[in-house]
Parts: sequence; structure tokens; C-alpha cells
Amino acid sequence: PKLVYDFAEGGKDLNDLLGGKGANLAEMAGLGLPVPPGFTITTEACRAYLAARREPAGLREAVSTHLAALEVKAGRALGEPGDPLLVSVRSGAKFSMPGMMDTVLNIGLNDMTLAGLAARTGDARFAWDSYRRLIQMFGKTVLGVAGERFEDALDKAKRDKGVDADTTLGVEELKVLVEEFKCIVLAATGRPFPQDPRTQLDMAINAVFDSWNGERAQLYRRREHIPDGLGTAVNVMAMVFGNLGADSGTGVAFTRDPGTGRAGVYGDYLRNAQGEDVVSGTRNTVPLQELERIDKRSYDELLQNMRTLESHYRDLCDIEFTIERGRLWMLQTRVGKRTAEAAFRIAVQLADEGLISMDEAVGRVDGDQLGRLAFPRFEAGPSARPIATGIAASPGAAVGRVVFDSHTAMERARSGERVVLVRRETNPDDLGGMIAAAGVVTSRGGKTSHAAVVARGMGTTCVCGVEELDVDAAGRRFTGPGGVVVAEGDVVSVDGSSGAVYLGELPVVQSPVVRYFEGELDPRGPEADELVAAVHRILSHADAVRLLEVRANADTPQDAARARRFGARGIGLCRTEHMFLGERRPLIERVILADTDAEREEALEALLPLQRADFAAILAEMDGLPVTVRLLDPPLHEFLPDLTELSVRVAVAGSRGEPVERDRRLLAAVRRLHEQNPMLGLRGVRLGLVVPGLFAMQVRAFAEAAAERAGAGGDPRGQIMIPLVGAVRELEIVRADAERVLADVAARTGVALAMPIGTMIELPRAALTAGRIAEAAQFFSFGTNDLTQTTWGFSRDDVEGAFFTVYLDRGVFGASPFETLDRDGVGRLIEIATAEGRARRPDLELGVCGEHAGDPASVRYFHQVGLDYVSCSPFRVPIARLEAGRAAV
Ligand code: ADP
Ligand code: MG
Ligand code: MG
Repeated sequence: PKLVYDFAEGGKDLNDLLGGKGANLAEMAGLGLPVPPGFTITTEACRAYLAARREPAGLREAVSTHLAALEVKAGRALGEPGDPLLVSVRSGAKFSMPGMMDTVLNIGLNDMTLAGLAARTGDARFAWDSYRRLIQMFGKTVLGVAGERFEDALDKAKRDKGVDADTTLGVEELKVLVEEFKCIVLAATGRPFPQDPRTQLDMAINAVFDSWNGERAQLYRRREHIPDGLGTAVNVMAMVFGNLGADSGTGVAFTRDPGTGRAGVYGDYLRNAQGEDVVSGTRNTVPLQELERIDKRSYDELLQNMRTLESHYRDLCDIEFTIERGRLWMLQTRVGKRTAEAAFRIAVQLADEGLISMDEAVGRVDGDQLGRLAFPRFEAGPSARPIATGIAASPGAAVGRVVFDSHTAMERARSGERVVLVRRETNPDDLGGMIAAAGVVTSRGGKTSHAAVVARGMGTTCVCGVEELDVDAAGRRFTGPGGVVVAEGDVVSVDGSSGAVYLGELPVVQSPVVRYFEGELDPRGPEADELVAAVHRILSHADAVRLLEVRANADTPQDAARARRFGARGIGLCRTEHMFLGERRPLIERVILADTDAEREEALEALLPLQRADFAAILAEMDGLPVTVRLLDPPLHEFLPDLTELSVRVAVAGSRGEPVERDRRLLAAVRRLHEQNPMLGLRGVRLGLVVPGLFAMQVRAFAEAAAERAGAGGDPRGQIMIPLVGAVRELEIVRADAERVLADVAARTGVALAMPIGTMIELPRAALTAGRIAEAAQFFSFGTNDLTQTTWGFSRDDVEGAFFTVYLDRGVFGASPFETLDRDGVGRLIEIATAEGRARRPDLELGVCGEHAGDPASVRYFHQVGLDYVSCSPFRVPIARLEAGRAAV
């Protein structure tokens, strides 16, 4: 296989093979943009290296060939003492993993070539600075020397000189520092810093390969569900220098604001700096606009390049660039990460600009982002005064206790506390803490600092560059203007949309997007902002193209009404258990405790009108749309008192000589009904078979409510759903009863009722015998919560703490099967049931009513399987609508 591609040979479609960075560098080179020459070692080479634990055959030779070509293009050679070529070695996987993999700059410098670099550039200070950076980066990322060793030495050199920026260290100090760095390397590794440039190159390439399996990279992949087997590409490219004086510099740019989506010039620029200086936040950057004043020619060229890239990629791009003595170089681009708000606005803007279609616009946003937009925000009360304000890097309203290090953040979060991580700046080692924290605050760094980029990617609230804060991590406190001291454990509120940090807990208000869902905000009216308008247009388009219908799980008229406002087209699951609680508990107790049929019938008789009123109210809210009522599902003992409590009560009352007859009977019933595994016990259709009259009462109540409504000119569309069926015979028995009741109600009221009867598919046996079951069912609704439990054989209520963390860590599942549908197992059952059910009854209606119906990845799957609808909680209805639309475009 071809293990190395020149930039001139690649392109953005070779993402899998060249990684995002390499593919896009090649793409930019192809567009004629100024990219330094270079080549990319493929992800395939990385996979081979990781599998065999050594370089695949032919790799060194291929690198030599491409290096020779690079030397010709650059006009200088690696290791040439008079005029050395320097290169960077950069990782770049298929999915961007910000800050995860380490880049080494200035490869090719050694004691000999140093003089040549100084002579060519006429800048000895620069050459020495580049050398100390090489030893530092190489030492840390390739040789694994603790980074603080170098940082401490650098800090000490600065302190000794009495300066705070490394740009003010002179040649003499840098020479001393380089010697010191070399000693650090020797002491830590037992070997001198490698002087041979090709050795440096090969070691760096292997280090990038190895970094794929670094701890940080693994953590990030797990969190983002990126497969472990992809591997990273390695990019080798000629160095250009932003640290060659005041007419040089390096920066980051966005073609639109990644925070809000507004068009304009966004980015950060740092003069006389190299690579990581901008993103690390160790020095303060200037806004990109200022580059116009500093170097107008480069600025204009950059803006022109940005336009080229945006119309070529047809999306927001982010860019890394460097200016070397007035000459602009493009070092990286990719379709940029953005906040949820920006994603919606940009999608609609690009559609309006004619760059993309509305179908594509729908594909550019996702349900998680929509969910994030529904988060509450802080109330902008006049009394609330921020301690300090920084850069609004990632929106949201986070309230939590202040912590100063990643470890404490994770520990406190594990014990259920909400925390805000406060750092001077973050680096990849802080990732664990950033994941655990509700919000992140840094005192240094711009919109493109590590903290900002990572937080945006994760949807975590972040304010960065709050320069007025003096963060004392060791002392576990920070000081704000006016001497306010905030210690670890104090509560702060962080507004990622405005950049303000407040002391104490601020009240939060509803998001305008939720007000729009609720119908309180007209998306075309004056009060609606651009965001609400964008959400409205995207959702409308999703509704127009989607094939999956979206219904809601709603048990009360209030929920039904909300679901309808949120766009649900009916109720896919109306649970009835809560209708037997509260004041009605004694009635259901009487049903359970009845000694004779007459007693039981009497109790059911009393429940009937109440239940009828429940259904009438829900049918009224959902007039004209299907309402699927599930007959009683949970084990009966859930309606009786707790065994221990009741035993105590009976004993105490008995000893006082109080009347205990009723409680005694209750106790006997509780004992009789007690089950070791209630989840696998007397519930669902089994109850219907064992307790005479219970299901019939529910069916009668529902039918009477529907008949009444139809008689009054309404349009009730009731459906009756039998839970937990495993065998067709169960369904046939209950169904026959139900049909008798329906016929009776129809006869009495004179209203012809069309109420389909169907079943939930939530046992593997039901799925496997779906063809038979479809003979008796007019619809199936996959109860994916129970189906997941019964397929895996573990209970969702018990496992989460017990072993899920271990299972996730060890890769048994990528995500909890209760959150995202397990396609291989549970999905297989769904596919069997779908195929066999439809084969037996072509007009069989198929839906899903588990939690998965509101999960983006699962909705896409249900679309692919070809189900008719998903039914989720009212709040997730807009998310399901959007995801169903995305699945269809
Ligand atoms: P990351 O993936 O973490 O962004 P990069 O590979 O982009 O890492 O490199 C880190 C920094 O080094 C970036 O600022 C990048 O622009 C800079 N850099 C990489 N290669 C070169 C080069 N050949 N010349 C100058 N700067 C470079
Ligand atoms: Mg980069
Ligand atoms: Mg169930």
C-alpha cells in the first residue's frame, strides 16, 4: 500500500486515510493557497505500526523519498549545516481531537544546524529560541520527560532576568537554557538529546503513532464515541516561523463567529510567536481585526483565503496561519466546531446565501444541539453584579462550587456535586476535570484557547481570559477586583453567553427556544431573535421531509397539551398506573383484597367513572390524533404499602389493642404478592389474566370516554395497548374480552368505535414470535426499555452504579444500551419482529415508546428500520422531529 502522500496528491475526500489535518492541508494546497510543502503518512501506516509495535516495511524508504521531494521544493535540506530545513511533525486523525495528540516543531535543529539557521535569518536569538522549543517539545512528547521540568527552568530564567515574557530572554540566557534543557533530557532518559535530524524525525513520527493510545486520547475518544481502531495520520511539513520578530506572528481565524454564528472577522493573533503560543493562553493575544493595522497586505490576503475556504467547504472553517516576515502561510483548516446556537444560525445563513440547500441545513444541526438550546439561562437581574467578566467562550448557565484542579473536580462531581473548574489556563491534562465540571473559567487565553475549544466541543459552559482574576491554584483560591477572595467550595454562577462570573447562585430563566416550543413566542414576530427564527425554519423543514411520525409519552392532560404544542402527532404511550395512586389507592386496594367476585366488581365499578374522566380529558387534548392507552403494567404490590412498614404498624396497633383487621388483610396480601423479581413477575398482561375484570374496566372506561367524545362531535382516535405479551395466546384472551366490551359500549351508546388493539413488544419471545402475535395485534409498539432489560438480562434500576462504569471503561459497550439502542442485539429483535409482523399483516403499525425514541442516534436507526413512529417524552419531541428529519435527508 501507499504509506505516504505528498500534499499535492491528497484531498479532503481522503479523510479516512490522511486524517482531517492532512486531507485539508492537501485540499488547501490544491486550491492554490500558500501551504508550506509537506507530506502525510497514512492512518493505515499507523494501524500497522500499532499492531506490530514497529514501523511497517517500506515506511522509512517512503519517508525518505517524500522528504527528498520536500527538500527540493523547500530549497534546503534536513541537517544541512549552512541552511537547514526544519520540519514540524503533526498528528491528525479522521476526527479532530483538539489538543489530544502532540505536535513537535523545529525538527532538524541541532548544535550544527543552529548556526546555519541563525545565519540565514540573521537572528541568533530566534535560532536559540527555536532550539530550546524543540528540546522542550521533543523532550516532553517524544521522550516523555515531565513537562514541568522544562517549564520550571524557563520560569526561573525569566525570574532571574526579571521579565515575564519569554520573548525578552536574550541569546545568552537562551544558550544557558538550552544547556539546561539538554541536561534535563539526559538526566530523565539517560541519553543525550538526539542530534541526528533524521533520528529526530523518525522518533517524532513514532511518538505521534504512540500518542493515539495515550490516556488523554483514549478518554476523549470514549467520550466522543470515536472508535479506537482508526489510528492517526502524521503530517510532516516545512516549518515557517512566526517568531522571527515584530513582522511575524501566528494566529487563528474563523470564517464566522463560532460562539454566535454571526458573520464577521473572528480570531486571535499573536505577534512574534510560534505555534502553541496562541492556543495555550500563556500570552495574551490581540483580536484578529488588529492585524489589519499591523500588516494590511497579509490581512487582506487572509480574508480572501477565508472567503475561498468558506465557499469551497460551504461551511464555517477555522484556520491556523502564520506570518513569516510579512509572508502569509496557511497551516491548517477544518470545518470548525461551534456552539449549538451558532450551528442553527449558520445553517440557515448558509442556506439563505445559497451555499447549501435546506435539506443540508437540517443535516448541519443535531438533536443534542437543539436540546442544549433549551437549557435555561441566567436572569439578567440588575442587582446581580459580576465579580469579573471575561470572554464568552461557550454558552450556558453553570452554577457550582469552585475547584482548582482536575482531580478535585472529578472527585466532587462523582459524589454528585456541581463544580466549576477555575484555572489560569487549561491544558490537555485538565480534560477529565473539564468533563466533570458544569462550567470552566480561565484567567488567560482567548476564544481559541484550549479551554474554549474543548469546552465548546463538549457543550460545557466556559468563560476564558478573565484577566482580572488572580488564580492561585496551589492556595485553592482566586482573587478578583477589589480584593474579593473566592475559595475552593464557594458557589459561583458562570454565564457562558455574556462572559460574566458571579459570586453565589443566580436564578435561571427559560430559554427563548423553549418559549417558542411552548407557543409563547411567534418565530416571525418582533420578540423572536434570529436564533428562534432559525430553529423554526429548520424544524419546519425537518417536519416536511421526515418519514417517521413523532408522538409523545404522556399520562396527563397537561403533558398531552404540552406534547401537542411541542409538535407531537398523538400519544404513543399513555401509562395508566399513576391513575391508581393518591386518593384512589384504597379503591385499587379493594380490588386486590376482594374475597369475592362481587366485592371486586364493586370496587372496579367505583374506579370506572374516575378512569373514564382521565381518558376523556386526554382525548380532548389530542382530538383528531391517536391516543394509545397502555393497560395496567406494574406488579400489583406497588399499589400496596411496604411490607416492613406495614408489619410494624400491625404489631404496634395489635399491642395497643387497636382494631387491625383491615391491616391484617393488607399484610396478608402484601405477603402473598411479594416477589423476588417483580420485574419478571406478575405484571402486564399477566395481571390482566389473573385479576378478572381489571383490564375490562380500563377498556370500558376508555371506550365510553371515546364514545362520549364522538357523540359530542369530537374525533377520538383511541388505541388499546396490551403490555408484556410473550405468547399470542395471552393476547388473544385479553383481546377477546376487550372486543366484547367494545361491542357492548357501541351497542349501548350507538357509537361505532374503531379502536385498534395492539401490543407492546418488550420480551425477546414476543419479538421472535412476532409473526404469530401479529395475527392478534393491529399494532406493535417496541417497549425498548424493557426489551433492553430482558434481552441483556439486567435491570436498568440496578446496574448503572454496579457495573456500567466498568463496562463502559472496558469497552463492553460504547454507550449505555439504555441511552442508545443496542443495534446488534435489541435492534436485531426489532428487525425480526418488524419483518415477520409486516409479513403477516402488511398494515401493521409499528412504533417505539422507550427512552430511545428521544435519543438522536436511535431515532436515526428507527428510521432506517422503517418504523412508522417514535414516541418520546414531551420535552424531547422537537429533538425527535429534528432527528427524524435529519435521518430522511
Ligand atoms: P493541534 O492539532 O493541536 O492544533 P498542530 O499540528 O496544528 O496541533 O500544531 C500545533 C501548532 O503548531 C499550531 O499552532 C500550528 O499552526 C503550528 N505548526 C504546525 N506546523 C507548523 C509549521 N510547519 N510551521 C509553523 N507552525 C506550525
Ligand atoms: Mg492545529
Ligand atoms: Mg414495559
